[in-house]
Amino acid sequence: MAVASVALVAHDNKKQELVDWVAENNTRFANLTLYATGTTGKLLSERLKRDDITRLLSGPLGGDQQIGALIAEGRVDLLVFFWDPLEPQPHDPDIKALLRIAALWNIPVACNRATAEFILTSAYMTDDQHRPRRPDFSDYTGRTVTR
Ligand code: PGA
Repeated sequence: MAVASVALVAHDNKKQELVDWVAENNTRFANLTLYATGTTGKLLSERLKRDDITRLLSGPLGGDQQIGALIAEGRVDLLVFFWDPLEPQPHDPDIKALLRIAALWNIPVACNRATAEFILTSAYMTDDQHRPRRPDFSDYTGRTVTR
């Protein structure tokens, strides 16, 4: 399938919305590998009664960066990140970094429920023929650096 693994993150004021949305779409998530930041993952595991969700560290403790690393390694196909536009976060640089790395590696990102619904119901979700293109950075990695 085009999308095999999903990373899920929600800030505190958005956790209920994310967990409700995933639960409502439980069948669509059933065969997907799920990663989540610590607290989001705990709530999801309890609600979905799934013990196979990979729980990373809590976001402010490095979990966002762990998800970023998974994206850079090509191990996450979709990021659902319900960040809170009304509340400052102590780990704001990590949030920016996660969104940046997702953009860099051409990963679809849903930052709110409306977008998440569009993506989850897209035919691309299950289309084996469709794979978002993984960018080629060989020009960058092969660049000449003067010392
Ligand atoms: P949490 O982290 O799921 O551990 O609360 C989310 C975040 O704030 O990035």
